[in-house]
Amino acid sequence: MDGRNYIGGRWRPALSGQTFESRNPAHRDQVVGTFARSQAADVTAAVDAAAAALPSWRLVPPPERGEILLRAGALLEEAKEDLARLMTREMGKVLSESRRDVQEGIDMAKYIAGEGRRMFGQTVPSELRDKFCMTVRQPLGVVGLITPWNFPLAIPSWKSLPALICGNTVVFKPAEDTPAVATRLVEIFEQAGLPPGVLNLVTGYGEEAGEPLLRDPRVAAVSFTGSTEVGRAVAIRAAEGLKRVSLEMGGKNAIVVMDDADLDLALDGAVWGGFGTSGQRCTASSRLIVHRAVLDEVTERLVDRARALRVGDGLDPQVQVGPVVNHAQLDRIHGYTEIGRAEGARLLCGGQVLRDGDLAEGYFYAPTVFGGVRPEMRVAQEEIFGPTVCIIPVEDFDQAIAVANGTRYGLSLSIYTADVNRAFRAVRDLEAGIVYVNAPTIGAEIQLPFGGIKATGNGHREAGTAAIEQFSEIKSVYVDYSGRLQRAQIDNRPVS
Ligand code: NAD
Repeated sequence: MDGRNYIGGRWRPALSGQTFESRNPAHRDQVVGTFARSQAADVTAAVDAAAAALPSWRLVPPPERGEILLRAGALLEEAKEDLARLMTREMGKVLSESRRDVQEGIDMAKYIAGEGRRMFGQTVPSELRDKFCMTVRQPLGVVGLITPWNFPLAIPSWKSLPALICGNTVVFKPAEDTPAVATRLVEIFEQAGLPPGVLNLVTGYGEEAGEPLLRDPRVAAVSFTGSTEVGRAVAIRAAEGLKRVSLEMGGKNAIVVMDDADLDLALDGAVWGGFGTSGQRCTASSRLIVHRAVLDEVTERLVDRARALRVGDGLDPQVQVGPVVNHAQLDRIHGYTEIGRAEGARLLCGGQVLRDGDLAEGYFYAPTVFGGVRPEMRVAQEEIFGPTVCIIPVEDFDQAIAVANGTRYGLSLSIYTADVNRAFRAVRDLEAGIVYVNAPTIGAEIQLPFGGIKATGNGHREAGTAAIEQFSEIKSVYVDYSGRLQRAQIDNRPVS
């Protein structure tokens, strides 16, 4: 694929002519495509185009915008298999999970297209006679979208579709590891009939192609998903321009397994939550907090299941765990194995880079389980973003909740229990934006708000009805049809 930027309805190379490659993490010699390595001047051109398109796009009736987005959803549906295969080649996750990633985009397109006929405001009584009060939703203006590689279609869809339905124009900077999927998504929007300049794509590296978006005064809002470290820097930079910033960042999610849990169910959840997408999900179940009474059984069974997982190229239907995304990520994951060992956690399986046969061609890491982990260890506190699960023993429910809550993150937490009272106490007390009962920490559906608290987020949510809130301003409107000056708080108050 010869990828270019998409600016003002035209596909163009970077102004500098520079490019970068996207490679298959299962076969590092395979080049998926070459893409524009954008710099500040390219971003400025994209913002120019978005700013020029704004006056007419904001006046397109939202149901009409919705028709275009619905068409984009239908095109995504047609291209689902091709997109999924491209995604697996570009970032490694197994094909069934890539299909699911594309499906989230399709679901979001259908859901958001309908918002074009809702986008509710409020009507509110006035304290004065012959006066009408309501709220209406307005676009923010030009918005910048900065996204990670682990959900290369779902996350850009979660952001771009609501941004567009609300009447914003967009500059989209995808992760440098997944420009091919991003390019295909933008092609689909183009094919669906989005007018030139309404959605613009600039590919490249964060500091070169992402940061200029934060500096441009014409960008009203930035929606970022990525690591907490970069998210904080984005927020600080954007604050200088008083931009609205929504941040979806890292997680250190946990499954609690109580002594009364259905262990078959809990084990299925722990394997899927811990090793799905090679653990490279913001919602990955990287901690397993287990009641002492079932600790031995859960540990033994999890290790057996982890050892049996088939690791390899995600395009192979027999494979359950694909590669990790790049060399830096492989080093980081192995670095945490060494940290865990040094901290005194027991390495029960995995803990190594896989290099047998074809695996030597890519970035493969063995599914890894640490036992005897203490809550304060770094492996139990920091986001590893790999196929590593830490088992933390606890004595009772209260300790389980305290340990689950005891990290700086607050994205997704889960409990397995058969006791409805415990389940509801957990729902009340777990400190996270998302809580699951008898299900792992992954499995979000697009019609519910998605996001986290503490160091995971900054008070915004994506998806569900929250998506519209994220990408619109509320305008309060007063219409006085009395034909005279009416003074609120004065004319309807008797003089004392
Ligand atoms: P990252 O923070 O390295 O990069 C995210 C994006 O920010 C990329 O597009 C990158 O190019 C860009 N970027 C980097 N530096 C920048 C800068 N100085 N200015 C502007 N943009 C910059 O994250 P990643 O490695 O792509 O993704 C993994 C992280 O994302 C994990 O921490 C994971 O938990 C998180 N994540 C969170 C959610 C969520 O919804 N909470 C979802 C998926 C991933």
